[in-house]
This record gives sequence, structure tokens and C-alpha cells, in this order.
Amino acid sequence: MSAASKVRREQPEREIVDANAGIKLGAGDAIQVNKRMETSVPEIWAAGDCAESFHLITQKQVHIALDTVASKHGRVAGSNISGGNEAFPGVLGTAITTLSLPMHHPFQLSGIRYKSALMNIT
Ligand SMILES: Cc1cc2nc3c(=O)[nH]c(=O)nc-3n(C[C@H](O)[C@H](O)[C@H](O)COP(=O)(O)OP(=O)(O)OC[C@H]3O[C@@H](n4cnc5c(N)ncnc54)[C@H](O)[C@@H]3O)c2cc1C
Repeated sequence: MSAASKVRREQPEREIVDANAGIKLGAGDAIQVNKRMETSVPEIWAAGDCAESFHLITQKQVHIALDTVASKHGRVAGSNISGGNEAFPGVLGTAITTLSLPMHHPFQLSGIRYKSALMNIT
């Protein structure tokens, strides 16, 4: 088993959505949003780990729970809530971390795996 496959996949917290019917869910059961971070219900916005993103390679919605994504979601949503007109273009699936054991080892990934490419790109 690879190190990547041992990492626990975070599930989006969406109890507030379950309690408020009408907000649609999207990829990975995260809250469905458009590029302005608007949900399916007017004047309700979602950003961060609870919200989906557009994948620039597969051209499909995905759920990626990373701070590098969440902080950009938040900036776009915050701007639009206060009258701006920002769009979050999407993600490439980039992540960088360090595995401490057995040795200090940087670990990076970006894009999609070959198998995903075959499944997603026609
Ligand atoms: C162990 C670990 C390591 C990580 N390492 C990385 C990393 O190296 N790089 C990276 O990019 N990302 C990393 N992440 C992911 C990153 O932490 C998240 O993607 C990011 O914090 C998401 O931000 P958020 O604002 O969506 O949610 P959160 O940071 O989870 O913030 C949500 C906030 O809402 C509050 N809240 C929840 N429910 C309610 C409620 N009903 N009322 C009021 N407040 C509420 C919570 O208390 C919390 O403060 C890691 C996550 C974990 C768990």
C-alpha cells in the first residue's frame, strides 16, 4: 500500500446542508458550487472543505480538502458576498507535505494519475 493511499480521506462537513433542504450536493458529497462559490440556493455561499471545486484537467467537479484550496475559495466567496465579482478558476490537485518517518521526505503531487487520465479524458 502506498503512503498516499493510507491517508484518510476527509469527508465534507455538511450537517447544515442536511438541515436546510434545497442546497444541492456535488462531487464527493461536498456542497455544489459554481465558480463564484454560490450554492444552488440564491444568496447562500459555500467555501473550503465543505465545498467542491472544478478540476482544470478533468474538467469535472471534485472534492479536494486542502487549505491551499479552502483559502482561495474563501477569498472569492468573501469578495462576492460583499458585492465583488470574483471567480475561482479551479484546481490542479497540487499538494506538498513532508513524511517525517523513517526519514524527512518531501512528497508532492499535482495533476491526475495515468489511470484517471484514461477514465476522464476522451
Ligand atoms: C491533520 C491535517 C493536516 C493537514 N495538512 C494540510 C496541509 O499540509 N496542507 C493543506 O493545504 N491542507 C492541510 N489540511 C487540510 C486543511 O486543514 C483544511 O483544508 C482547511 O483547514 C479547511 O479550511 P476550512 O475553513 O474549510 O475548514 P476548517 O479549517 O475546518 O474551519 C472550519 C471552522 O468552522 C468551525 N465550525 C464547524 N461547525 C460550526 C458551527 N456549526 N458553527 C460555528 N462554527 C463551526 C470549526 O470549529 C472550524 O473552526 C490538513 C488537515 C488535517 C486534518
